[in-house]
Amino acid sequence: MKIKVATIFPEMFSALEIGLLGKARQNGLIDLQVVNIRDYSKDKHKKTDDAPFGGGAGMVMTPQPLHDAINHLDSEHKAKRIYMSPKGKTLNQEIVERLAKEDELLLVCGSYEGIDERIIQLDIDEEISIGDYVLTGGELPAMVLINAVGRYVDGVLGNSESVGEESFSDGLLEYPQYTRPQTFEGMDVPEVLLGGNHAQIAKWRKNQQLKITCLRRYDLYSTYKNAAPKRGRKSKGI
Ligand code: SAM
Repeated sequence: MKIKVATIFPEMFSALEIGLLGKARQNGLIDLQVVNIRDYSKDKHKKTDDAPFGGGAGMVMTPQPLHDAINHLDSEHKAKRIYMSPKGKTLNQEIVERLAKEDELLLVCGSYEGIDERIIQLDIDEEISIGDYVLTGGELPAMVLINAVGRYVDGVLGNSESVGEESFSDGLLEYPQYTRPQTFEGMDVPEVLLGGNHAQIAKWRKNQQLKITCLRRYDLYSTYKNAAPKRGRKSKGI
């Protein structure tokens, strides 16, 4: 998968040289290209921001450097172009899985008070937020998106089943996980996990998923329950 990023802080993306994503880049599974929007500025001081028309606090990113950076990175508009923005759709697993099917993503990171609205109209396909709070720039949101989507690229995770058994993959939160030792600080691992009966383990895990999701995320739980007939299964209580 190709991922292109336009930012005024390209050095922040060195965080993506570490861990599984770093390995995926080394192995050519993810091709990440990060450009500095400032390099495209035609201003003699390489300015990328200016005061907002109509007044108000802060500065706004000017359209020219952004427009040129985006159209240099994606001259034929092959990429899904995303502006990281608190005003966008909130990122969730469904969006992550949809974006993971794209061959190419282009992520635009804003700074200051954001970017000139005309760039959104001219050059952007979709606005995505990582939550209902405001950060200083789009770099961390872009890295969150790259990390979440990158996990769905074939070969990035060692065990291909990992993405299928995690929180949100089937609409529920994950069951509790345990490893050695069997007893820690007087607390035992649930007996059912030690017996090797896979049907019983699967049943226990599903019940735990339903219970945790019902308690912590009733919104997900009721969506899951309402979709039960579509999944061709009886909706059982927890
Ligand atoms: N004035 C904007 C507003 O009120 O909606 C906030 C601008 S914010 C200080 C600067 C940049 O950070 C934005 O252009 C965007 O790229 C990024 N950003 C901040 N919070 C974000 C979030 N929750 N999700 C995605 N991007 C975010």
